[in-house]
Amino acid sequence: MLCKNYFTGTDGYCKVNIFITQLNSFLEFLTDMGITEIADPQRRRGETIQRKSLELEEIYTHWTDCTRCKLHQWRTNIVFGEGNPDAEVMFIGEGPGEEEDKQGRPFVGRAGQLLTLMLRAIGFEREDVFITNIVKCRPPKNREPEKDEVIACSPLLQKQIEIIDPELIVTLGKPAITALSGEKLSITKIRGRVMLIGGRKVLPTYHPAYLLRNPARKREAWEDLKTLRKLLGP
Ligand code: SF4
Repeated sequence: MLCKNYFTGTDGYCKVNIFITQLNSFLEFLTDMGITEIADPQRRRGETIQRKSLELEEIYTHWTDCTRCKLHQWRTNIVFGEGNPDAEVMFIGEGPGEEEDKQGRPFVGRAGQLLTLMLRAIGFEREDVFITNIVKCRPPKNREPEKDEVIACSPLLQKQIEIIDPELIVTLGKPAITALSGEKLSITKIRGRVMLIGGRKVLPTYHPAYLLRNPARKREAWEDLKTLRKLLGP
């Protein structure tokens, strides 16, 4: 190979040729070791996201006409959840409201707008996390989901958690932490404290709809969000 002047070292040797010779030796060494592919973290991440998306699609297809509980009678759309299938953090609320039922998307009403702002305050967009609810169909008049409804819908939530495999789950409001822990807990007492449920880190905090009704609690919610940020690292 011809070597341009600016690639020629002070010793007179061509730096490009030296680099190519060294690279060839390194590739031969890798081949001898049986390594035929160099890891590409970006590509691997892309493959993981694609695999998890397909797995989520598969379970949604399975549940799309679900009549496992009485909530199916009142729904317009099932609200499975949305966001990054490979999210580090998963937010779990109570159940879809009127707007969510109409659009088939979680947290799109006023409470959803507040959640979006809360996420932005700690450097996340909605697409970075995964957002869902303990029940996927709207309870009439926005009442709390009943125990039998939560139990009927729980295999779907558990499957979502298993596929997404988040580092941290944030539960929004009392029904969500009750559903996950199986215990009736006081949200004002346990909020902001990390719990270990089924081997997973769970951080309970207030539901954004509750914060809209009780703005004085926003300061505590902000503390919880700061805890979340710390748990996930920089
Ligand atoms: S809430 Fe869950 S279990 Fe009940 S009908 Fe909807 S998808 Fe099925």
